[in-house]
Amino acid sequence: MKHTRSKKKTCDVKGCDEPKKKSVPVGKAEKKADLDVEAEGSTAYLCKKHWKEFKKATKEDRELDQIGWD
Ligand SMILES: [Zn+2]
Repeated sequence: MKHTRSKKKTCDVKGCDEPKKKSVPVGKAEKKADLDVEAEGSTAYLCKKHWKEFKKATKEDRELDQIGWD
């Protein structure tokens, strides 16, 4: 048995055990993508599935910013 510190290799979203794929800012993951992350620092690691959710949420946000209502 080797001792790994608290560094886990799985997604930081609560209840998710998928392997982590991408790192994103915690604040953005929580506020923009509405993900329930349990990260130790300011970076959250997401699995493929949650990364897609994050990307979708932030993309929609960006597209909304670009829409002009005049
Ligand atoms: Zn996940």
